[in-house]
Amino acid sequence: MTGETAPFNPAALDGEQLFEVTLRPTCFEQFVGQLRVVENLQLAIQAAQARGEPLDHILFSGLPGLGKTTLAYLVARSMDAHLHETSGPALLRAADLVGLLSNLAAGDLLFIDEIHRLSRPVEEVLYAAMEDYVVDVVLDQGPSARNLRLKLPRFTLIGATTREGLLSAPFRARFGLQEKLDLYPADDLAVILHSSAEALKVRLDAGAAQYLAPRSRGTPRVANRFLRRVRDLAQERYENAIDEHVAREGLARLGVDENGLCAMDRRILKTLLRHGGGPVGVKTIALSVGEEDRTIEEVYEPYLIREGYLRRTPQGRAVSARTRELFPALDAKGMEETGTLFPLA
Ligand code: ADP
Repeated sequence: MTGETAPFNPAALDGEQLFEVTLRPTCFEQFVGQLRVVENLQLAIQAAQARGEPLDHILFSGLPGLGKTTLAYLVARSMDAHLHETSGPALLRAADLVGLLSNLAAGDLLFIDEIHRLSRPVEEVLYAAMEDYVVDVVLDQGPSARNLRLKLPRFTLIGATTREGLLSAPFRARFGLQEKLDLYPADDLAVILHSSAEALKVRLDAGAAQYLAPRSRGTPRVANRFLRRVRDLAQERYENAIDEHVAREGLARLGVDENGLCAMDRRILKTLLRHGGGPVGVKTIALSVGEEDRTIEEVYEPYLIREGYLRRTPQGRAVSARTRELFPALDAKGMEETGTLFPLA
């Protein structure tokens, strides 16, 4: 590491939003992979349009960066419908939601990101809005309080959640279409990398895509972020061309090692090994590594589990036999950072 590039942190996404919008697919044909989901959506859209009815409410679930927001935009575009965008944490009070709902026109789409973070009172307003297209407003307080029922135009709610399990069963049941997005295979991520490289006007050869794709945590957002950072390196030092050598150097500068592990992944595994390999509760891990437990569960763990470094047990998290085999140095007393796991941290 030269110290001139900040380590890669898959949980820090905010500063990259403008860049993401640039690379967002503009039609279903450009959306790579998740074929079953795309097909289900297209079918539902065609059927609703043929009947002249609004589309069923849709719930997208899946880890951050897998394309939930993108799909909401694609649904809107293919229906030529207006999309209103908000998020669970932004709707603090029921009145915030009532305000939004009363501005909808017939056929509009309302996209609520992080819908599992809605408060109970807001969720309850949504129930009636989704089912009967009405919203009950309480006027005044105390003895003079009165209920006013507003009729809403027929709209479609699109919810996105990284934690489907946190939605109550009755709430979930109100979504006619429920689609779960899975982590992407490396081949799909390579396709995404090539089309993003084209959009960013940087040359990316097959070897570079083969190097970046399997290290992108199964996540298009991560693949695009890698590409963006590696592009900076290519532009400054390698005549705007990314081959495997440049890709490797770029990821190394971000603290991402040959195994695709970033500094936080390594801290998590190290914490577990320091506790004899686990099991260790996620809250303890979070405290040790200085990250929120939610972020550990949503951003780091899925990749560590998928790659066979970590297991979930009823007692907590534990390293797998594979981690011990691959990195015996970490098992040793004193936690010497030798071997292949920590060369770049
Ligand atoms: P989420 O809402 O699930 O967090 P986004 O829809 O914001 O994810 O996607 C993150 C980034 O990855 C965006 O730049 C998006 O365009 C890109 N992306 C996601 N899925 C795909 C895909 N299947 N094909 C191409 N690009 C994708």
